[in-house]
Amino acid sequence: MDKELDWGNLSFGYIPTDYNVRCYFRDGKWGEIEVSQSEEVNLHIAATCLHYGQEIFEGLKAFRGKDGKIRIFRLEENARRLQESAKGILMEPLPEEKFREMVVKAVELNERFVPPYGSGASLYIRPIELGISAQVGVKPAKEYLFMILVTPVGPYFKTGFKPTNICIMRQYDRVAPNGTGMWKVGGNYAASLTAGEHAHELGYSAVLYLDPKEKKYLDECGPANFMAIKNGVYITPASDSILPSITNKSLMQLAEDMGIKVERRHITVDELADIDEAAAVGTAAVASPVGEIDDLDTGKKYVVSKNGEPGPITTRLYETLNAIRLGEIEDRHGWCTIVE
Ligand SMILES: *Cc1c(COP(=O)(O)O)cnc(C)c1O
Repeated sequence: MDKELDWGNLSFGYIPTDYNVRCYFRDGKWGEIEVSQSEEVNLHIAATCLHYGQEIFEGLKAFRGKDGKIRIFRLEENARRLQESAKGILMEPLPEEKFREMVVKAVELNERFVPPYGSGASLYIRPIELGISAQVGVKPAKEYLFMILVTPVGPYFKTGFKPTNICIMRQYDRVAPNGTGMWKVGGNYAASLTAGEHAHELGYSAVLYLDPKEKKYLDECGPANFMAIKNGVYITPASDSILPSITNKSLMQLAEDMGIKVERRHITVDELADIDEAAAVGTAAVASPVGEIDDLDTGKKYVVSKNGEPGPITTRLYETLNAIRLGEIEDRHGWCTIVE
């Protein structure tokens, strides 16, 4: 264990670790896994990732459990989603087995950075794939680099698991209809920075985007999916322009396990008047409860949390998912890969 790190006070930033792992796709095949101690990447000046945004990524976490073992949450799902993102922007899909091997290796090599059980912190795993061949014409690259860096991150909620406010701003879209919204493409994040900063300046934690075509239905909440509880039912938007969140998928399964009905469907803005709980869901926070949703175009304010506390169903789902990741309760669905 690294004595110098203050596990309870880590931010969601970047702390150097000992190693990263890399693999190149060249001459039509993926090569051997390479272990690197360098924090830098050597790229050709004309690499497609630099000019035309051929870049995709993933995000997952490893935890030290109650039993001292390290658990990586749902890595197969991340492997598949990376393949979908790759196909989406004509990059080379990485075989699932290679992904697994590299994630496990990156965690094992940096084992001393996996925060202790009870600290609330975890080891964030960031896989990334880049188009690296030199090409000035607009075409997909022939060569790719896939790599994984890991870095310890603090508990998402410094001030505790408390609701924050979000807003609707119709002047911004994160993605286009029939665009790249369903893939984890770096460019989607670039496209969301202006809106995100604007929302932060106004005191909101995130933008709740509407569907980019009709601006009628809820889409997602910045870099997280949106879910709500309405009359005891778990509702979450069905949309082709949102990223299929693995956290959302897991929470839907847990809700069903608890006998809560789940509906993936269109949700109109007006429906926000009738919801009892809401949260932004994703790997970073699992569920970030929503206090109020302000529609800045119509001036309507939808107060979701009347007492300033997260709703009971959101809380139960959040605690259950956390308990699985920490090995506190049985992993009935086989979601965790145990490293040691
Ligand atoms: C990564 C991401 C999410 C959350 O997905 P998880 O698999 O739950 O971490 C949601 N929306 C967007 C746009 C994302 O990029």
